[in-house]
Amino acid sequence: MPFQLLFFPKQRNGVINMIAHETNSQSTIERLVWDILFENEIGEPPVPIVFLCDNLGIKVRETRFKTPTLSSMIFEDEGQYQIYVNRDASDERQRFAIAHELGHYFLHLNPRRVAHAGFADNDDTLGQNAQHPMERQANEFALSILMPHPWVRSLRVTNSHADLARMFLVPEELINWRVKTVR
Ligand SMILES: [Zn+2]
Repeated sequence: MPFQLLFFPKQRNGVINMIAHETNSQSTIERLVWDILFENEIGEPPVPIVFLCDNLGIKVRETRFKTPTLSSMIFEDEGQYQIYVNRDASDERQRFAIAHELGHYFLHLNPRRVAHAGFADNDDTLGQNAQHPMERQANEFALSILMPHPWVRSLRVTNSHADLARMFLVPEELINWRVKTVR
């Protein structure tokens, strides 16, 4: 395994809650993402995130959550991982939410199983001010897989952030967020 993770179990509401230490460094996540793109023969934007989930045997479904603040979730049901995403969100927001859940899948659920059975996310956990280390890691993963570092670095030379948002099929604020991390 390329990751060294330390976890401290914490009991909350009768559910074991795990806290990840930030040893999933950004560069480690970038390398993981690059391997995933290579193995799935994805070589240009926009990254086909639902196709990628399909390839991995993860079902993606649009839904309207009973809790309106929910954006997306991932959980395992009888050995099958499922991602649900808010159907009322824009396609670009849905892509980020799906990529975030895929980050939880690779970093926290399968095969490491360092977390509880799944994750439910909202605007806070999908945002730049997410507090929990696992949420920040899933966001790093989502930014990395939707906007791979080498592609952004070369395309940003001749394209505006609005152009990049159209190329990568992400909200423009995510381009701004990503560009901060790409030297
Ligand atoms: Zn999350």
